[in-house]
Amino acid sequence: MLPGAIVAYHRRMTPFLDGLRAAMPDLRLLTEEIDRESYRRDETAHHEPGLPLAVALPTTTAEVSAIMRLATEHRVPVVPRGEGTGLSGGAAGVEGALTLVLSRMNAILEIDRDNLVAVVQPGVLNADLKAAVAAEGLFYAPDPASYEICSIGGNIGTNAGGLCCVKYGVTRDAVLSLEIVMADGRVIRTGGRNVKDVAGYSLTHLVVGSQGTLAIVTEATLRLRPAPPPKQTMLAFFPTVVAAGEAVAAMTRAGLEPCTLELMDRVTIGAVDDWHSLGLDRSAAALLLIESDRPGSAADGELALAEGCCADAGATSITRATEPMEADWLRQVRRMAFRAMERLGVARMEDVGAPRSRLPQLLAAIDRIATAHDVRCGTFGHAGDGNLHPTFVWERGDDAAEHRAQAACEELYRAAIALGGTVTGEHGIGAARRPFLEEQVGADALAVMRAIKAALDPLGILNPGKVV
Ligand SMILES: Cc1cc2nc3c(=O)[nH]c(=O)nc-3n(C[C@H](O)[C@H](O)[C@H](O)COP(=O)(O)OP(=O)(O)OC[C@H]3O[C@@H](n4cnc5c(N)ncnc54)[C@H](O)[C@@H]3O)c2cc1C
Repeated sequence: MLPGAIVAYHRRMTPFLDGLRAAMPDLRLLTEEIDRESYRRDETAHHEPGLPLAVALPTTTAEVSAIMRLATEHRVPVVPRGEGTGLSGGAAGVEGALTLVLSRMNAILEIDRDNLVAVVQPGVLNADLKAAVAAEGLFYAPDPASYEICSIGGNIGTNAGGLCCVKYGVTRDAVLSLEIVMADGRVIRTGGRNVKDVAGYSLTHLVVGSQGTLAIVTEATLRLRPAPPPKQTMLAFFPTVVAAGEAVAAMTRAGLEPCTLELMDRVTIGAVDDWHSLGLDRSAAALLLIESDRPGSAADGELALAEGCCADAGATSITRATEPMEADWLRQVRRMAFRAMERLGVARMEDVGAPRSRLPQLLAAIDRIATAHDVRCGTFGHAGDGNLHPTFVWERGDDAAEHRAQAACEELYRAAIALGGTVTGEHGIGAARRPFLEEQVGADALAVMRAIKAALDPLGILNPGKVV
């Protein structure tokens, strides 16, 4: 920034920060550079974010509302943030913006058995909510692999998916109602505890997945289910990734409804095995983790049918977990995939999707593209949803490899779009994939999205530079 611009900038910002301090003397407001630095990034290693002007950690909806009123008055951009585990730069800092961290609003306000709902603040960790409702014999379904470290507010922001979404749906399917703070500070409620509700447009579903660009979530009413029966777990190994994709497509065609249907390829299996010496079959090109939670012998029957699909697709070995500890361990293997890839270098996790019948073509395209661009790639993900995470890895500081990975990603997005798929199944457009939104949805649909954004946030202060 030029010296004149810096002076002008501080003239504008100082009254805003003074206003926050005067209106909310108890608000935790971080302005030291070391603190602001620690909120600069999310988990999107390849995205270069800006340094926040300050970081606010409110504890009440009233504080969030007051912050937004002042931000509107002073035209200061605001970046809502949960736990910062996002993989599209959604919560990454914007130069000169206030980062608004919701992690201190972390109460589970109510578990309503009569209506099978939980009312929570956005900072509750997904794992904590799961544990609290499990203690009451209930189940909160959405389970991103990061469930121990990510917040419900962030899950709503990204419409997070996860391992059991193949059967139980994504976060959007579990959100009944929201309390939201608008860009100008107004507080509104969307939806309610009703299972059915068509009163007006569904603002709830509009906000879910909007990555903090339309409103800030300060409370959520979430759908619960009775706890499902214990799972039965199976592992199948394949000689090629395409064969594993064909097994997935066959299971979908057969109408099976496993509660987990996850894939890991050879590179990912090797990375996890190198880290924890688990004795996985490293000669296999891919594995599928398949689980059924149907009651009693029905789970056995469902896995037997899945076994048939795997065998027909050419599986080289199929094993079942014999005890719950073993099944937990297999799930952990899958959850460790990204961290294992991160040990190999800078890891850029992508998030493409395709209709499930086209999963084999998507897997073939990933292999072809990684080879053509000479980049190391390990693929894992929610195969049952048609959603894969090809993860490109390069040595830190190897700029040439980083450029090759960027070119590979761009070709990958186009390949997914050509298959009728998506450039992001669950991580979001955020800041990282913005140039490709229009290619996927078209200019008219993007214009409608921008009109909605302008209507709800006319000054454009909510998470600027993200999504649209
Ligand atoms: C190891 C690992 C595994 C992962 N596995 C999965 C997976 O299986 N499935 C999946 O979907 N994701 C996965 N993720 C990505 C990430 O965990 C999810 O996107 C998660 O939903 C982000 O939650 P968070 O609390 O960290 O949100 P943040 O990263 O802080 O924010 C995410 C987005 O939501 C917005 N936001 C946050 N809070 C609010 C709020 N209160 N109101 C409005 N907007 C808000 C932010 O502005 C941002 O755009 C994984 C990440 C890692 C590191």
